[in-house]
Amino acid sequence: MNSIPLSEPDGSGPLAICRGHRTWLIDRYQIDAMIALCYYSDEAPASDRDLEADQKAKRHIRTCPKCRTWIHSAIPEAVMRRQYRLSRYCCAGMFVAVEESGEKNKIDFELYRGEDPCWRINGKRSFISFCPWCGKKLPDKPFING
Ligand SMILES: [Zn+2]
Ligand SMILES: [Zn+2]
Repeated sequence: MNSIPLSEPDGSGPLAICRGHRTWLIDRYQIDAMIALCYYSDEAPASDRDLEADQKAKRHIRTCPKCRTWIHSAIPEAVMRRQYRLSRYCCAGMFVAVEESGEKNKIDFELYRGEDPCWRINGKRSFISFCPWCGKKLPDKPFING
């Protein structure tokens, strides 16, 4: 049922340690978008019972050169790219409002008069300083430059 391959991009079998961590993440998170988020963010949920194994697997995937190559080939580039950007935001609600909302409920950032950081809602200067979705304080610059 999951279509994420365990093998290296060239089809060869991974080292036992790589196989173990990849299997852990795939079994647990199943969906490619979740696995991509694990790679970029520590915010993906883990129950206390499994926290240690979970952190070990995530740490390995992020630092092992073979697993880094593997995840970029096993998961579609568009998914990796979206989750990378999402992981830079305070929450998914804000990410969608800034990057994917189109005309409605759009939030963006400008430097008002070239100096005052200003978050706009649907093009109106609102000077909100906290995220409407998660309540975290908003940065005084865009979440991602460019
Ligand atoms: Zn590895
Ligand atoms: Zn937020």
